[in-house]
Amino acid sequence: MSVAPDDWVAGADFDRMHLWHPYASMQDPAPAYPVVAAQGVRLTLADGRTVIDGMASWWAVIHGYNHPLLNAALAGQLDQFAHVMFGGLTHAAAVGLGRRLVALTPTGLDRVFFADSGSVAIEVALKMAVQYWQARDRPCKHRFVALAGGYHGDTLGAMSVSDPVTGMHQLYADMIPRQMFAPRPACRFGETWQPADADALEHLLARHHGEIAAVVLEPVVQGAGGMWFYHPEYVRTARALCDRYDVLLIADEIATGLGRTGRFWACDHAGVRPDILCIGKALTGGYMSLAAAITTEAVAGAIGQGGAGRLMHGPTFMANPLACAVAAASLDLLAASAWPARIAALEEQLRVELAPARSVGAVADVRVLGGIGVVETRKPVDVRRVTGQLVEAGVWLRPFGRLLYLMPPYVMTADDLSQVTSAMVEVVCGL
Ligand SMILES: *Cc1c(COP(=O)(O)O)cnc(C)c1O
Repeated sequence: MSVAPDDWVAGADFDRMHLWHPYASMQDPAPAYPVVAAQGVRLTLADGRTVIDGMASWWAVIHGYNHPLLNAALAGQLDQFAHVMFGGLTHAAAVGLGRRLVALTPTGLDRVFFADSGSVAIEVALKMAVQYWQARDRPCKHRFVALAGGYHGDTLGAMSVSDPVTGMHQLYADMIPRQMFAPRPACRFGETWQPADADALEHLLARHHGEIAAVVLEPVVQGAGGMWFYHPEYVRTARALCDRYDVLLIADEIATGLGRTGRFWACDHAGVRPDILCIGKALTGGYMSLAAAITTEAVAGAIGQGGAGRLMHGPTFMANPLACAVAAASLDLLAASAWPARIAALEEQLRVELAPARSVGAVADVRVLGGIGVVETRKPVDVRRVTGQLVEAGVWLRPFGRLLYLMPPYVMTADDLSQVTSAMVEVVCGL
């Protein structure tokens, strides 16, 4: 399958000149490695090298690439039809996926809105919350409380509830709505719970609940905002405070859902049911973009009785049949796998194999939870150089800031995972 490097020179030039990459400059961009094949946990580059993917293409590819069952699900739907509008029409792929999601989410979360990406699911969740309070005759409740260190996406509403610093609020200061922020939870996962950790959240709610529609948080694991694992008791306390102060709770499980943290939902660590749950990323097994905002009868019912009488959102490609079909197959595959044991094995191996990085001078912290391993360095990582070294070692990782981290496909073997972790440790030793 590999393509001679020469064939790629023109392609790479075009890419560099014309194609924007995530969070990239078009002025002297870092090289993007051309991928010509992807199979299992391996990517084949145009020059013939293969790398083991420790990123699962940003949390998404949980079953590995080019999976025969997922391919078959997609092909089966394609044989019928690739897409129809969801306004006024429906189809078996959407119904099948909806049924599975209602069964898999905590009891009571059974009103499903399909969105085309995680960011859009967050926008929809925010709009649901605002419309809910309008319908309840409390139109002043239209602001949000979020956590410092959080990340909820790149659209304007999602950015407004993401960390003000890493979310670049100053760049778009006049465009994004101003929300309220509680400090990043300090008490780590696995430490003794310190109730004072939630005091700041309580003060915000006590003072401002009359204008707050919802608290938005990534339960237990903050992802792109800093790969931080915090105490489930914080989530439980947030739930109790939301109930006390009449505020909705939105859980962003776009990164954490579907087993990644060792429980099916990160909320399960806390035994908490949010009012709105957002999912995405791994939903289609990494095949294509699909997300959902799932809420309760109480929220959906109130919105239906409000002035607008309906939820005012409707993407063109809502509930795309191809995406729904592959997502249903991916959920079935996950259910049939022994995923809790798989994640536990990944966690154990990550703990053992990343531990040596702790004693490296350039390393500030090492942390592991479920299928997530993080090496936090003291200084920002030179992405271009470190990525190049890792590719040389046959490994694909994409660090950001002071974080070198991995969240492999669930199917990665112990040997492959060892190759990734030893490359990580070697790289930080050279910093
Ligand atoms: C990736 C992510 C999003 C945004 O999802 P997109 O599909 O990239 O729009 C939102 N929240 C969390 C926690 C994420 O990890």
